[in-house]
Amino acid sequence: MQSEQSSLTGSRVAIIGGGIAGATAAVHLAELGIDVTLIEKGASLVSGPPICHLHAGGNLYREISTEQCIVLLKQSIDTVRLFPHTINNRPTVIAVPHSDGGSPDQLLGRLDTIKQCYQQLVDSDKANEVLGKPQDYYKLYTRTQIEALAHCEQPLEPSSMDEWVIPFAKHADLDALKFPVVVVSEPGWSVFRLAASATLALEKMANCQLMLDTKVVGIEEANNGWKIELIDKQQQTDFLQVDYLVNACGYETGSIDDLAKKRRQRLVEFKAAYVTRWQQSNEKWPEVIFHGPRGTDRGMAQLTPYPDGVFQLHGMTKDITLFDDGLVASKQGSSQPQLPPQLLNKLNQGWDPQVMVQRSRRAIEHMAQFIPDYASADEYGTPLFGAQQIPGQDETLRAADVTFEGEHYARIEVVKGSSALEAAMKLVKQWQLANDRSECIEALHPVLQGLTAEEVELRAEELARSRAYPAQLAQYYGE
Ligand SMILES: Cc1cc2nc3c(=O)[nH]c(=O)nc-3n(C[C@H](O)[C@H](O)[C@H](O)COP(=O)(O)OP(=O)(O)OC[C@H]3O[C@@H](n4cnc5c(N)ncnc54)[C@H](O)[C@@H]3O)c2cc1C
Repeated sequence: MQSEQSSLTGSRVAIIGGGIAGATAAVHLAELGIDVTLIEKGASLVSGPPICHLHAGGNLYREISTEQCIVLLKQSIDTVRLFPHTINNRPTVIAVPHSDGGSPDQLLGRLDTIKQCYQQLVDSDKANEVLGKPQDYYKLYTRTQIEALAHCEQPLEPSSMDEWVIPFAKHADLDALKFPVVVVSEPGWSVFRLAASATLALEKMANCQLMLDTKVVGIEEANNGWKIELIDKQQQTDFLQVDYLVNACGYETGSIDDLAKKRRQRLVEFKAAYVTRWQQSNEKWPEVIFHGPRGTDRGMAQLTPYPDGVFQLHGMTKDITLFDDGLVASKQGSSQPQLPPQLLNKLNQGWDPQVMVQRSRRAIEHMAQFIPDYASADEYGTPLFGAQQIPGQDETLRAADVTFEGEHYARIEVVKGSSALEAAMKLVKQWQLANDRSECIEALHPVLQGLTAEEVELRAEELARSRAYPAQLAQYYGE
């Protein structure tokens, strides 16, 4: 099953890498009727670095430009429309502690600009209203207002920002914070339901050949296209001839660039988030960000909620989320930045259980600085981790999509997952792979839209278990 056959040229496209970038591109191309092969060396799709937050306005990043925030807002809205069953609908609290050195005022100016942009997007198309009403995009809370909410009982199904803020008001150490506290309509995003949505959709489309457990080991320009050398799990070699090649290999994009002799400067950063369980919590938490200077022991602390008291924690310090020598740049002679052996070991062999527990405990202690009761939480299994790429040399870049080299080669280099659809759409346009159809995202992707929330969640739970993560990380959480 696929949408109206609209492939213009009958061209064959191969995408190397089935992370969010490659999987989204494969879904988009296949939905347009294009002949696409997705090659992934791992056993399943979207199993790279974690994704928990849809950066619908980029408000977590004080250092990025307002322009990048607006790009992330627009791309996030398109992403919710593309993958409707992947969002966890709860707001995000952003608090600035005294220890941070910054001021909440830094956030305020651009929040209004982002809110206005959201309003304009909704005015131009009502279907863009996926983050609640534009006038409710964000709300500021004084200390008095937060203290008043601390006396309220949270309803079983919170639906307003006030109701979502209640657990934060009750448990956060308000003396540690500057005011106002910002609450913004930036929802959560489930990496497991994304993986499930892309997999289920691709399985239904005969014009997409999905090759899992298959690694690309060689590429060569041939016959106005590319000849690709593959090795499967049984160590069998095969070759594939295509017209267009998309390199979507995440932190390993440079290796394929090297094979293609297409030079590119980039950064790669290894990071981890920790899965914890706070048994005593029976309230519905929003996501909470406590800002702090990155890389210092006061680095940002991020609490991402899931069902049953499961929380994912980031702590932007060197001994929690960040790692010594975890940010590396490509050098003369290769487009592939080299991570140190101890981090490559984590990527390829997994974690030493002792380090896993140590870092998870530190993440809990870091959070307990701001939410003292959080000290009673426990580590709850394997960290969520991975390496991500950042094209160029600016480590603060957050919105990036696709670049083209010559007539037949592209690389998708997303920093945030929500940039993937835009990258895919640019591929179709640049290579004129399909008729220009000025239809809405939903009409262009009938197979994705036909998936039900239940089948997506079921597959997502299976994927979570197969990767040794608790099923809660795959379950819907929100209003
Ligand atoms: C700790 C952490 C938290 C993050 N949180 C968020 C978040 O909340 N929101 C957000 O939007 N982003 C987040 N990110 C960033 C986001 O995870 C990445 O930018 C995104 O996953 C990159 O997707 P990708 O498809 O480009 O790469 P990947 O997911 O790395 O996919 C690349 C794929 O290519 C495959 N591959 C590589 N080489 C070959 C080969 N030779 N042959 C075949 N296959 C190959 C790999 O197996 C892999 O599956 C986070 C990153 C980290 C590290």
